Amino acid sequence: MKFGGTSVADADAIGRVASIVRRQIQLDPEEAPVVVVSALSGVTDRLIAVARAAEDGQGDAAASALAELLDRHVEIAARLTSGSAQAELLADVRREFDGLIGLVQALAVLREVSPRSLDAVVAVGELASSRMVAAALLERRIPAAWMDARRVMRTDAEHTVAVPDLIDTCDRALEHVAPLLAQGKVVVLGGFIGATANNITTTLGRGGSDYSAAIFGSCLDADEIQIWTDVDGMLTADPRVVAQPRVVPRLSFAEASELAYFGAKVLHPSTILPAVSKNIPVRILNSHRPDNPGTTITRETGALDGQLSAIACKRDVTVIDITSTRMLMAHGFLRRLFEVFERFKTAVDVVTTSEVSVSVTVDDTRRLEAIADNLRNFADVACEREMAIICAVGENLRMDATLFGRAVTALERIPLRLVSQAASRRNITFVLRDADVPHAMTRLHEQFFGRA
Ligand code: ASP
Ligand code: MG
Repeated sequence: MKFGGTSVADADAIGRVASIVRRQIQLDPEEAPVVVVSALSGVTDRLIAVARAAEDGQGDAAASALAELLDRHVEIAARLTSGSAQAELLADVRREFDGLIGLVQALAVLREVSPRSLDAVVAVGELASSRMVAAALLERRIPAAWMDARRVMRTDAEHTVAVPDLIDTCDRALEHVAPLLAQGKVVVLGGFIGATANNITTTLGRGGSDYSAAIFGSCLDADEIQIWTDVDGMLTADPRVVAQPRVVPRLSFAEASELAYFGAKVLHPSTILPAVSKNIPVRILNSHRPDNPGTTITRETGALDGQLSAIACKRDVTVIDITSTRMLMAHGFLRRLFEVFERFKTAVDVVTTSEVSVSVTVDDTRRLEAIADNLRNFADVACEREMAIICAVGENLRMDATLFGRAVTALERIPLRLVSQAASRRNITFVLRDADVPHAMTRLHEQFFGRA
């Protein structure tokens, strides 16, 4: 069970975490869950800002920001616990922050924050939150044990983006975590943090707690991995564009990956790969509405026959049309063309070709002028801004030819600039005017998911 920052934002939120964990134990009394937590919401950002202040030599600003953060933690910790457990928790939290205050002062004197120091600074967020959650569970008479995640998560020394050593980490999970679970204890660890073989603190990269949870879950052969967050799951469409989209009950890993590109920021699919490769379902759940079923990501899709899984859009992209008669039956043209994008470090999203033209979309237009100038050395170039990409995603597209027709029919009368069906045949992509997106998305959504 992984709880993100918003699920542990304050004492009430941590109280909800305790109820959710209790429910889980009641559902499955034989198997105690592992609980992986992020830092309290906003804390990682604040700690990074503290490190930046130290780097600028602003020791006082850094110290006062830390004092504020400590206050926030102490206040929440005090609300969650009582008696001697409270005294112990407050001492633990203060000890983490005392170490941090000393470290940040030193960094402010040196005016230098290496990636290694930055990891030591930000790790305090997860160390403190995990101690607080463990104490809150114990206070509510839920058998729990705090574990320093750095004893379990082994990584390389690529600070701030450390890569876990899965074999070593699994050995340690079996050695340190499994025995506590066998005693019926809920083991609470911070996500995102780890340590090198020399016990130097590392972090896995922003948002890394999901990755930690997937790794611990796969090492310990969990029945499922629950990602508790503040939304109901993955949606059939972006709620800012389509009125009342639905929660997608089940999604394949590949479908989730397609959607993630379109900004379905619920989770980054690559972070759950360790779970998916072991065929452990990953569920996205809302800690504010624990009774909702959420979205389950598995190897296979859950879409019913004749259904898509979701639609997504990416707004405000630019289409570049590149036309050259030299392309006719020539080889090497595409290489030349894409080299230009490579030189200007610009990612291309959709590509369609005809015999004498290639159209691409780009999202990042910072180097558009230079790219167009370079392409003009060998082709005619036209750029069109304020375009958008709509992507219809569904494993069923592979088998059911009628889905494509239904999608195109839903969009009739809306001018489409580019259409492509990806090689995976898991999605159809339409490029159209950005202004047509709300209408087009609503039509598609009605076609496949019914009226709101
Ligand atoms: N606290 C870390 C972050 O904000 C890790 C996480 O939340 O997953 O990036
Ligand atoms: Mg997160």
